[in-house]
Amino acid sequence: MQHVPLLINGEFISSQSQQFIDVTNPANNSVIARAPIATDAEIEAAVNSAKETFLTWREVPVPERARVMMRYQQLLKEHHDEIATLLSSETGKTFDDAKGDVWRGIEVVEQAMNAPAMMMGETAENVARGIDTYSYIQPLGVCLGITPFNFPAMIPLWMFPMAVACGNTFILKPSEQDPLTPTRLAELFIEAGAPKGVLNVIHGGKDQVNKLLNHDDVRAVSFVGSVPVGQHVYKTATDNMKRAQCFAGAKNHSVIMPDANVKQVLNNLVGASVGAAGQRCMAISVAVFVGEASQWIDELTQMIGQVKPGLWDDKDAAYGPLISPQAKARVLSLIQQGKNEGAKCLLDGSDFTLPGYEEGNWVGPTVFSDVTTDMEIYKQEIFGPVLCCMVVDTLEEAIALVNSNPFGNGTSIFTASGAAARKYQHEIEVGQVGINVPIPVPLPFFSFTGWKNSFYGDLHAYGKQAVRFYTETKTVTARWFENDIPSGPNMTIELK
Ligand code: NAD
Repeated sequence: MQHVPLLINGEFISSQSQQFIDVTNPANNSVIARAPIATDAEIEAAVNSAKETFLTWREVPVPERARVMMRYQQLLKEHHDEIATLLSSETGKTFDDAKGDVWRGIEVVEQAMNAPAMMMGETAENVARGIDTYSYIQPLGVCLGITPFNFPAMIPLWMFPMAVACGNTFILKPSEQDPLTPTRLAELFIEAGAPKGVLNVIHGGKDQVNKLLNHDDVRAVSFVGSVPVGQHVYKTATDNMKRAQCFAGAKNHSVIMPDANVKQVLNNLVGASVGAAGQRCMAISVAVFVGEASQWIDELTQMIGQVKPGLWDDKDAAYGPLISPQAKARVLSLIQQGKNEGAKCLLDGSDFTLPGYEEGNWVGPTVFSDVTTDMEIYKQEIFGPVLCCMVVDTLEEAIALVNSNPFGNGTSIFTASGAAARKYQHEIEVGQVGINVPIPVPLPFFSFTGWKNSFYGDLHAYGKQAVRFYTETKTVTARWFENDIPSGPNMTIELK
């Protein structure tokens, strides 16, 4: 049985812990590895290593730090399919979807390669007579990243490459449900030339996170995961005077106008709703049909009904199993609740099993119509292959519906009207908007900008906002005298 190592001070070591968490293949729940629950001493050693290494890493010239990222990007590309295979083995994701998970992470590494340009400050000459002002940005110190199960390559790569390129050192606490992929990412990072101690990896769950959140030497915390844990992490980190950015759950609506291209709408909604078994924070889980667009619900349901879940290496499989039996039980209970509360279940995937893999966490594609805002299937993030359909009469009603939802991660509108799209993008209270694009995840030269209950903090992931999150600004005001030394003391705060 493979034991997942910790990475402390540049060494992959076996934990001294007596407690382990099983890592399973979600297709049949067989155990494929065991991840340790790191001991307090191991957490302390990781923080000490990161703290000590920061003193030297921050002095490494920024072009050299960028070159580590360049080598890392190259290695990730060379090992792309191998990482995707590993990722599929512990998440059940189809190979194509796993490759997307790796690729969208590589794109962030490419952004981190721009560190020299990103780390440039500002200057202004002659802000007063003979006085210039300029700013530098400098790294913070030890940064912490806590990541969820659903993107075990992309989300760790949202965090440590940007933090490290900015001159910080990093401790990663990946999801205990799929720690093999992040561990492989860490191995390749060391191979790319990251000095020991720049990245440390600790495994475990709640207690290990809490220990790190309460550690005096951790300066900043990046978290991605569910709402209750995101709120807890944000409150604990900020209570401890740390900088925090916490990306949480979602309920993403797609608004379909009657003038939209029906083919484009249907093709996009199938993948955006049940793709990855709905285990995406940017999945479309609510389709809001405006007026006559509601006549497409039946065709959409038929198309979603043709979607077949299957094994990661089955080319015909559209998506894989849910991550765990607990996740499956939760989704099935929400589907049942939807039926009990009076939603119309047009397609029911509750009984789906894959022959030969009956022990796996399979849920078939499911579609509800006649969903109302008081139902649990509307209020909760289902995080399964379940689409809720709603119908409104006007664009204004659709906007009011979306804006009254407490989440604000992503949304999309399908329309042929520039005016409708413009109105939607302007009035909608959601941080990431797609226009005829179902899942508008920004590329890393922008930032990942969820709003409302989908994000707690100020500065978002990757792009310019991540650079500001992982750095401090130092502003220098300087005067160099030639001959005009002032004659007496200046008793004011004015710059003259
Ligand atoms: P989760 O909240 O259960 O776990 C996330 C991380 O927090 C894991 O590393 C876990 O070990 C740790 N953790 C769990 N319970 C904890 C506790 N009580 N105290 C401290 N740490 C704890 O999330 P998950 O199930 O792994 O991921 C799915 C969730 O992540 C969904 O809600 C999804 O929407 C969200 N997500 C959000 C985004 C985004 O960008 N907004 C992206 C991906 C996933």
